[in-house]
Amino acid sequence: MITALNLGVPRVGAQRELKKTVEAYWQGKLGQKELLQAGAALRRRHWQMQKDAGIHAVPCNDFSFYDQVLDMAALLGCVPKRHRAVGAPGSLEVYFSMARGSKDAPAMEMTKWFDTNYHYLVPEFEEGQEFKLSGSKVFDEFQESRKAGFNTFPVLIGPVTFALLGKAKVSGWSLKDTVARLVPVYEQILQKLAELGADWIQIDEPCLVTDLSEEARAAYKTAYEKLGKVSAKLNPFIATYFGALGDNLDLAFSLPVAALHVDLVRAPQQLEACIAAAAKTGKKLGLGLVDGRNIWRNDLSVSLAVVEKAAAKLGAENVAVGPSCSLLHTPMDLDLETELDAELKGWMAFAKQKLAEIALLAKGGTQGRNAIAAELKASDAAQVSRKASKRIHDPAVKQRSVAVTDKMLNRHSGFAQRAQLQRGAFKLPAYPTTSIGSFPQTPEIREARAQHKKGALNDAGYEAAMKKEIASVVRYQEEIGMDVLVHGEAERNDMVEYFGEQLKGYAFSKNGWVQSYGSRCVKPPLLFGDVSRPKPMTVPWTQYAQSITPKIMKGMLTGPVTMLQWSFVRDDQPRSETCKQLALAIRDEVADLEKAGIRIIQIDEPAIREGLPLRKAEWKAYLKWAVDAFRLTACTVEDKTQIHTHMCYSEFNDIIEAVGAMDADVISIETSRSQMELLDAFVNYKYPNEIGPGVYDIHSPRVPSVEEMTVLLEKARAVLKPEQIWVNPDCGLKTRGWPEVKAALQNMVQAARLMREREKRAAA
Ligand code: GLN
Ligand code: ZN
Repeated sequence: MITALNLGVPRVGAQRELKKTVEAYWQGKLGQKELLQAGAALRRRHWQMQKDAGIHAVPCNDFSFYDQVLDMAALLGCVPKRHRAVGAPGSLEVYFSMARGSKDAPAMEMTKWFDTNYHYLVPEFEEGQEFKLSGSKVFDEFQESRKAGFNTFPVLIGPVTFALLGKAKVSGWSLKDTVARLVPVYEQILQKLAELGADWIQIDEPCLVTDLSEEARAAYKTAYEKLGKVSAKLNPFIATYFGALGDNLDLAFSLPVAALHVDLVRAPQQLEACIAAAAKTGKKLGLGLVDGRNIWRNDLSVSLAVVEKAAAKLGAENVAVGPSCSLLHTPMDLDLETELDAELKGWMAFAKQKLAEIALLAKGGTQGRNAIAAELKASDAAQVSRKASKRIHDPAVKQRSVAVTDKMLNRHSGFAQRAQLQRGAFKLPAYPTTSIGSFPQTPEIREARAQHKKGALNDAGYEAAMKKEIASVVRYQEEIGMDVLVHGEAERNDMVEYFGEQLKGYAFSKNGWVQSYGSRCVKPPLLFGDVSRPKPMTVPWTQYAQSITPKIMKGMLTGPVTMLQWSFVRDDQPRSETCKQLALAIRDEVADLEKAGIRIIQIDEPAIREGLPLRKAEWKAYLKWAVDAFRLTACTVEDKTQIHTHMCYSEFNDIIEAVGAMDADVISIETSRSQMELLDAFVNYKYPNEIGPGVYDIHSPRVPSVEEMTVLLEKARAVLKPEQIWVNPDCGLKTRGWPEVKAALQNMVQAARLMREREKRAAA
């Protein structure tokens, strides 16, 4: 029999129950006992859902009140010293202090989980770091599930991935030592799970799909040499996901474990090699065939052929079929989407529907195609309808994409010539001041938008409310003496959704929530078809804002790579092609803004870096199409129109040349939190165009002083030419309150003035 396997569920729940419960607990509205009960109820419901769907092998310990890497750190006693005094070892107080910080203990750092939009807490390895079995979550949840009658297996993050994801806080840290210290604790955990009756255990080692050093490869060997032998009763299986094993394939299959799970959605090309390696090493093979990273319905006929092939070679009892990765990264239940039309829904599957697909594939593989004939027929029909649908395929969009020429990717003149024209026309002072786009989204703004959506506020009323807001933001910027103004983005709910809603090819879910970090969830738009822009999206608002001020108003757009990165996108064409279509659509908006008299246009690309492939060998190709998409968007304008872009992160060294190749006239970046550390990248690479290193950290309500900001500007001055430097905050201001924004921007304008005076004095 072929096993229907799952690797994890979207633990927040279909209605974001976990988010609501945890937040109520944080606010003191719910006691600890209630929180624990709510967690147990949710786990039980999810186990039942998987059982009902026909999943044979159901995971436990995939649940978490915050993050699975944090859970693993807690279990291993990897608790930073500053959090230990907060409460008893293993307590929820300590746990949430690590996650969110408490009075004297700043939170642990958070970063993206591989190439997903999920953020994990980065384990810290301190001076004299010891690991010690602490807490009992995995044991408790395993026993809880067995008691409730579910045949579950526990999930852990493997020792090598854990060590590789962690960050040493002392020098002289070595991977080898860390893994050597971790393994005995893992042995204890496995031993105990075996005693409690676990027969299988999933150990996640996604680092096996990344570029590994020799040291890491050796660490895998020594770690699993031990973990493979803990108990004859226990079968560890290693789960890999998010890519191909590639040059780590032999290593992975040489590890002494019972089975290996591989991602065949991201890396279908590894099928043959994996089957051969499994046959040779006598391992069971988990086929990751149902996409855990996207929302499309599985092509069951194609997947079943893979299952049949593997079963023919390895024997049905040695094959499992499952999702490509944990279903954590998909929304829960398509059935709740009552407002998506039937045709669109017919092409999609959320987690619950994916579980049913997995069960069907196992059944079809075991009992033969006839056993699922009706479902195969329905699946085939859905594929045919998607391939042929006029809603998806727009010949005009495809033709336009094919017709893109090199000339369209280039400005008319080089930067030097453009800069001269722009300087002559704009007459901005040295160290020009501007902001990144959004101003505080006040409760009144949100309320007006909500009323408008409900139909309680008509279009004219909504327009008037937004114009009033825009006017007051413009007046304020004039008052404090900002040089380049913005309209404040009051009319935008979200920088991707706002544009997606106005583009053809996009749809939106009501409940398609996916955990981003802790209790934070996002609802990515659904990009299902060829993208085009029926009519201008931002022109009237921007034009209005420009009409009420003599100063230059900057137009504000979201770039194609960010639109792509923060949406669920189609899987029936390469991402690069979808990105190109987005670029053409936004290019139309750029052209229309220019036509409407807007002289500076900012195209935000905060997501360019996170799109980097996991394997370095693939970076170049990605950066090429990503940069080309940006250039395609921007390069429709005349030399005298100034293009800005914005990115908000501080790890730049990897991609600095690609950023240069985007050829924006001005780029604003996040630098203030790292005290301009980022500018190191600009010491070796002479960035040719203009740049606004953020001088005000908008992630904190703190108001930086004039003095602090001039210190940062002096640091920038040390590596850049004064005529290159712009003065701006780190990012948009929409999450901040007005009082702190006012104070901080006033200081910022003052800091720019001081810098100008210093330059003048130096020149005199
Ligand atoms: N223009 C956007 C804003 O100011 C940029 C947001 C971002 O970089 N994430 O809100
Ligand atoms: Zn930003």
